[in-house]
Amino acid sequence: MILGLIEHDRGTLNKISLEMLTLARHLAGRLNSPLEAVLIGQDGHDLAESLQAYGVAKVHLVQHDQLDDFAPAAWAQSLVQLIETEKPAAVLAAGTDRGNEVLAHVAARTDLPLAANCTEVEPGEPYLITRVRWGGSLLEEARLQADPKLITVAPHVVAAQEAAGVEELVLNPVTPVLDDQDFRVKVVDRVEAARDKVSLTDARVVVSGGRGVGSAAGFESLEELAALLRGAVGCSRAVTNEGWRAHADQVGQTGARVAPELYIACGISGAIQHFVGCKGSKNILAINTDPEAPIIAKADYAVIGDLHQVVPAVSEALRKLKAD
Ligand code: FAD
Repeated sequence: MILGLIEHDRGTLNKISLEMLTLARHLAGRLNSPLEAVLIGQDGHDLAESLQAYGVAKVHLVQHDQLDDFAPAAWAQSLVQLIETEKPAAVLAAGTDRGNEVLAHVAARTDLPLAANCTEVEPGEPYLITRVRWGGSLLEEARLQADPKLITVAPHVVAAQEAAGVEELVLNPVTPVLDDQDFRVKVVDRVEAARDKVSLTDARVVVSGGRGVGSAAGFESLEELAALLRGAVGCSRAVTNEGWRAHADQVGQTGARVAPELYIACGISGAIQHFVGCKGSKNILAINTDPEAPIIAKADYAVIGDLHQVVPAVSEALRKLKAD
């Protein structure tokens, strides 16, 4: 049996899971094996019937009074218990932050290898897999030998496709045994994103700041420039690591992929893990004190200078232009 973990947030399906299910169904077909799915938390259970159209024959409904929200270790422990009872040949999840996190916990708890961000899976012994490395700049071919195989599927490489429906969907309620240790990481609060702001991934202009901005307060001038250009503010991982901005603002391999008309990189060195998140931009303008910074060679335009002078000067010029 092939088991797919369906990702949802309080009952809202993450559609990348349907891409994963499509690959999982092809794998199950090659192995002449049934495709089953797991939905964790009461809110997700309503999604079960919609999975039938993707070839799922049985859905395991994991129920627990503390699983209303995402809790990575608890999700993983629930999966570990299902692996013990159901003995799947492979467990797949979407190669998203959550999918990779949960299967990494499963791998650690079961001492199994995890092949993350796969684009192709060829069954056999061992499985031959192709997976994305280095933020998409390298495709690696690897062999995966384990029982069961733990695999996450890279987002946006397999088109989600429905299949001839399975005739009868079996629902299997399961109650995992979880303890406090499994809930050391859990959602404790939710803050709605400001609705009047342009979202990072839709913005035509992104003004992004790196370690060179120097502090959380230093982002005020970037906010001002972004507002003048009706754009959004992004940042590098150095900035989120410092706690100056939320992770939702991070651009790069482990953040958002953006493709605006103009990406203004302020005090960002241009490490590959950052660049993969903004390389789709039509134009990149780098503002950096270091002419040797990697971003300078990658940018379409560059200003060599202190962003604390350059950014307010650009805003001032824009304000004058708007006033005229
Ligand atoms: P730095 O590399 O420290 O660069 C700061 C820059 O600011 C320098 O070029 C400096 O010359 C310039 N500067 C300093 N002062 C000023 C000033 N006053 N005016 C103008 N310029 C100034 N990084 C990401 O961004 N996104 C990711 O998603 C991401 N994922 C990662 C995943 C993995 C697995 C790993 C290993 C790393 C990842 N990183 C990611 C980290 C990445 O490798 C870099 O460490 C990070 O991007 C560096 O951030 P930075 O450019 O802001 O900082």
